[in-house]
Amino acid sequence: MSGEVFSGKIDASNPDKAIQIADRIWWVGHMLPGDPFQCHVYLIENGDQSVLIDPGSKITFQNTLSKIEDIIPFDHIRYFICQHQDPDITAALPLIDEMVSREDAVIISHWRVIALLKHYGLKLKFMCVEGLGWKLDLGGRELEFTLTPYLHFAGAFCTFDYQSKTLFSSDLFGGFTEKWQLVAEDESYFEAIRPFHEHYMPSREILYHGLTRLEKYPAKMIAPQHGSIIPEKLIPFMFTQLKDIDCGLYLLTHTSTNVLKLSKLNHLLHNFMEAMVSYTDFREIAAECLMQVGQVIPAINLEFYALDNNSSCLLFSSKSMFQPIEIVIPKEFSGLIGSGFKEWLEIYGNHVAYSCNVPLGGGDPVCRLTIPLLDPNTKIIQSIAVFYLSSQDEPEDEVIETLRRVSALLNIAVERELVQRSLKQERQKFYEQSIRDPLTTLYTRLYMRELVQRLLGLNDRDPKATVGLISLDIDNFKLVNDTFGHQAGDKVICEVSWIILQETRESDVQVRLGGEEFAIFIVSQPLEKIKVIAERIRNAVANMSFKGSMANHKFSLSAGVIVRQKGEDLNGALQRADVLLYQAKHQGRNRVCSELEE
Ligand code: GH3
Ligand code: MG
Ligand code: MG
Repeated sequence: MSGEVFSGKIDASNPDKAIQIADRIWWVGHMLPGDPFQCHVYLIENGDQSVLIDPGSKITFQNTLSKIEDIIPFDHIRYFICQHQDPDITAALPLIDEMVSREDAVIISHWRVIALLKHYGLKLKFMCVEGLGWKLDLGGRELEFTLTPYLHFAGAFCTFDYQSKTLFSSDLFGGFTEKWQLVAEDESYFEAIRPFHEHYMPSREILYHGLTRLEKYPAKMIAPQHGSIIPEKLIPFMFTQLKDIDCGLYLLTHTSTNVLKLSKLNHLLHNFMEAMVSYTDFREIAAECLMQVGQVIPAINLEFYALDNNSSCLLFSSKSMFQPIEIVIPKEFSGLIGSGFKEWLEIYGNHVAYSCNVPLGGGDPVCRLTIPLLDPNTKIIQSIAVFYLSSQDEPEDEVIETLRRVSALLNIAVERELVQRSLKQERQKFYEQSIRDPLTTLYTRLYMRELVQRLLGLNDRDPKATVGLISLDIDNFKLVNDTFGHQAGDKVICEVSWIILQETRESDVQVRLGGEEFAIFIVSQPLEKIKVIAERIRNAVANMSFKGSMANHKFSLSAGVIVRQKGEDLNGALQRADVLLYQAKHQGRNRVCSELEE
């Protein structure tokens, strides 16, 4: 059999026989029915310097041995490489130890592995990869080793065969395979790899370290110890995907042994983190959160209660598309939100509160998980997340842990939202202040320039869109201040402003120019009509009356009325109206003067 030339095609149809996976590289493992781990043993056929990679266990070795002997005599194997120390790789060593007759046979491994393997009490010698300079010369054929530590073993490494360009990747690229599949067919194999690595790898950094070191090899095939062999065409894809997963899955739970479920939850967290980065709007983030959570557990609704800067309670709920609604703090949360965590523990006794059989709007009862979110510095409950699950069973601890983490992320998003909200409110306030006079709510002189400029532009394009202007000034106002005080003066200014607003339309531009001076811009009205408006205002002011000390005082104002001339700018129009206003003052006040009708 050893003389057979490799056709390049892997025939994996009969796992009872050795399977050639590359030129003189053989799979000599044993298929264990129903075992999602499927442990693989590989033989590098290299004359009397042959190599057995990850020999196997007591339950697989008899099969491995018979496969080897179909290819080469067992004593052609000189090197037994153990890429880590797990029993599914090394438990066959005592059997091998009994069989080996050649003096130069040796077990090759990392010093951390050898420190443990010596406890088998074998006759076989050890050689450590460090002592070999991470290389093994098979007589014209070179193997190279690369350290790739992971969860259960710091001394784990991989082996690259330069001749066949096969990367024996140990646990890296391993997968949980539901059914026997020696060679991965397509990209879907990644879904078998994902939970395996999330489970084995304590951190993304350690996985990344291993992957970047292995990526430099010109591998034509990856032969892992578990899962499926990865053919050349799928190698770049698997590298890219693996670099992007989250590790440390076992941190999610104290009780669950269901790695696939944990992987799903881990994937959810990962996707949600990405959503947090790519979306800025809380509505999008929260909707994405509910969607992601809903794929793993039956979450049907999410509510988020938070206090804003003014200590008002805001509710973000999927029912209102996560648009914040200001509400009274619900009874069940009053005394909790905005308070210390101690109060929470006194009531609920646990970090996360759940209640099942909660009736929800007439539908079937649901389970409700309430998660308080603390300010990391003050430990005050900043906000509360409530998830509604359509299942009525108490959720498992890994589900609660996942929701707790998701909520902590959501809290950051809400904080971001609240900062933006208060900035927006501040901006709006400043904007309002710059366009509205706080005493009278009339437009400011500053904003008038912007607004009227647009009216003038409109008039330039459309002669029918005339701009009329009334300039007004309260008569003898100084006397009012001097007699009744400044506050009383303010009251008069407010009353006159109110009259101006009453006598004009919303589409007109009413401005407090300063002090007791006003201007009103009126679009598309003839001079005659504007004069009537000015007259109405003058009349209303003349009939104005106050209670108290000002009861017997007579008020009045004077006004100048013009219509903007073609091409005239704002200052020009204001000056012309002022000339008429002063004319009214000179003529005895309490009157309206207008330009002559053409
Ligand atoms: P005339 O009929 O010629 O317009 O006489 P007048 O007294 O109204 O004229 P003048 O412009 O000299 O006086 C305006 C006064 O308005 C002076 C100032 O003390 C007062 N004033 C300006 N702004 C305010 C304000 O915001 N509130 C109050 N109460 N008084 C103001
Ligand atoms: Mg004045
Ligand atoms: Mg005045």
